[in-house]
Amino acid sequence: MKVHHLNCGTLRVPGSPLVCHVLLVETDDAGLVLVDTGFGLQDVASPRRRLGALRHVIRPLLDPAETAARQVERLGFRRSDVRHIVLTHFDLDHIGGIADFPDAQIHVTADEARGAVHAPSRRERSRYRAAQWAHGPRLVEHPAEGEPWRGFTAAREIIAPGLLLLPLPGHTRGHAAVAVDAGGRWVVHCGDAFYWRGTLDGSGTPFALRASEAAVAFDRALVRANHTRLAALHRRGEPDLVLVSAHDPVLLERARRAAQEGGVTP
Ligand SMILES: [Zn+2]
Repeated sequence: MKVHHLNCGTLRVPGSPLVCHVLLVETDDAGLVLVDTGFGLQDVASPRRRLGALRHVIRPLLDPAETAARQVERLGFRRSDVRHIVLTHFDLDHIGGIADFPDAQIHVTADEARGAVHAPSRRERSRYRAAQWAHGPRLVEHPAEGEPWRGFTAAREIIAPGLLLLPLPGHTRGHAAVAVDAGGRWVVHCGDAFYWRGTLDGSGTPFALRASEAAVAFDRALVRANHTRLAALHRRGEPDLVLVSAHDPVLLERARRAAQEGGVTP
């Protein structure tokens, strides 16, 4: 499947500007699939109502040209061509764009839907922004069950052959990674299971990012275990595997280069 690597939200945090890395996948029979959405047009129009006070911390650029809706159109597609959206989790910098694709099915783990929509704890209620799903999207909830795949415990094929949901809870209750067979390479979008490439290669992570990763974790021990597991996967150096996070700008650039070259990054 052809995979486009989009930045659907620049976060102007001090020292290290971040991206919101979104995959746009062209499938054979299931239309276009987005993995995460970054910020959407309604976030740009009404940031206070949609994003709340957190916007002062993460400082999103909120440029309509960065939204998935505008980028899908710029690539020559219609928004209605996007029939499915897979969410790594429900945080506001990942789901803001779902309202721009009201006909798309929204795929998520059942645990994440529970923690965000159906039965949030008090902490989860303040974490998530219900305004972002007030349009009543069609949720498709997937159990955290499946086959072992490359160190992940439960890969579950959804939507199309070569599209895998990989439950990876910790950052949120039902967080998941998503793997896409891009023909000759697998792109694994790890969402917020790690923020910065230093987690994979041991080169270190800026203090502010490490602190915020710990502060917002639903389960810190699981976050640490995920870091260990993903670093081990990175060290194995599987030649057809491209690991990206939602927010690391260098991993976004490397993934774009790999997509252009049709191979993997060195
Ligand atoms: Zn995030």
